[in-house]
Amino acid sequence: MDEGQPVKYGYMVINEGKIEGIYEEEVKEEAGEVIDAKGKLIIPGFVNTHGHTGSTLLRGAGDDLPLNTWLKEVMWPMEQRFTKETTKAATSLAIGEMLKSGTTTFLDMYHLHMDQTAELILESGMNGVLCRGMIGLCSKEEQAEKLKESVELYKTWHNSGDGKIKVMLAPHAPYTCPPDFMEMIIEKAHEHGIALHTHLSETRKEVEEHIGTYGKHPAEHLSELGFFEGHALIAHGVHLSDVELSLLARKGTYISHNPKSNLKLGSGVADVKKMKEKNIRVCLGTDSSASNNTLDMFEEMRFASLIHKGVNEDPTAVSARDILFMAAQNGGKALQYEKKGRLKKGYDADFSIVEPGGMHTLPDPEERIVSHLVYAHKGSDVTDVFANGKQLVKNKELLTMDEEKIRFNAREALAKLRR
Ligand SMILES: [Zn+2]
Repeated sequence: MDEGQPVKYGYMVINEGKIEGIYEEEVKEEAGEVIDAKGKLIIPGFVNTHGHTGSTLLRGAGDDLPLNTWLKEVMWPMEQRFTKETTKAATSLAIGEMLKSGTTTFLDMYHLHMDQTAELILESGMNGVLCRGMIGLCSKEEQAEKLKESVELYKTWHNSGDGKIKVMLAPHAPYTCPPDFMEMIIEKAHEHGIALHTHLSETRKEVEEHIGTYGKHPAEHLSELGFFEGHALIAHGVHLSDVELSLLARKGTYISHNPKSNLKLGSGVADVKKMKEKNIRVCLGTDSSASNNTLDMFEEMRFASLIHKGVNEDPTAVSARDILFMAAQNGGKALQYEKKGRLKKGYDADFSIVEPGGMHTLPDPEERIVSHLVYAHKGSDVTDVFANGKQLVKNKELLTMDEEKIRFNAREALAKLRR
């Protein structure tokens, strides 16, 4: 995952949480702790650029409903009953699942107990971007309160934990944040130099309604309000016009492509082939396990690689290598981590060890490694995971979290909600 070809036989030296070097030769001298990964693959930790860990307990709830009905009749009413304990159980489960399938960095947009999420990130040893999702369909006072809370979150947590944690400002979406509220948020972001994240043009319906109300496309509208002037990441971008795509390309905006969630909610398929042609920086995200229903980036890579071939009737639409870069390197940049998503000297030592011995990945000649990673491997093939040089998963076991407790608490929290 450097610019060149994979290093076939060699070793990587980790020191003080960073990659000190990668060498294509026999180990001459051993120093410190030695991890033997002979016969296995070492890949960069995945960066999951869009999700909502707080809704993990809603996995499988209200399946097969349209997005609007699903949000209004299932998600939001259930979420109103969430306690601090519920979100802790949900976020811990999400972190555990992500870690075990090779994700070392994630973005979390949620509106409840984000301080607790920050603490869980630090406990787990992962990297995470906190976004206090703001829905503006409320009074001016409540809007101001939500924005204040978001800025507080930034002041408290941004770059904490030796840079593991970052914070972005996150208006939920143009259809839930009226333009004047959106403008307030953008102003705050620029005032403090905070990056912005939002859902954008996920469904055709929301785009049509936006055009009906404001006479312009949502991305053009956001652009007028200044949304793309600083560092910006949008989720979905399924129904962006050609003009909007060119606009995002010019602004250097990142797009978090969430193919599985878009398919499951029947939202459509983002035009990643065109995004690629316009040199837009696309990264991958799972969205929440309520609309996915897993947080496994291997699955996300597979969907992202296959749907664009099918929809475009063109097997060259995206390559396996493109997809790997989206899942790691582009994601790192999108989340403002300068040194993540690559195995390269000077980069953060965020990586996974993948077991290639499964029948689903045989035969495995060297030149098929990248192909297998995208088209054949599964999250459960990950055996060991490191973030910032620290081992977080060993032989498929979580080292920093108690998996038994996570499983028990997840079931218990849902049972309590139902009671
Ligand atoms: Zn989302």
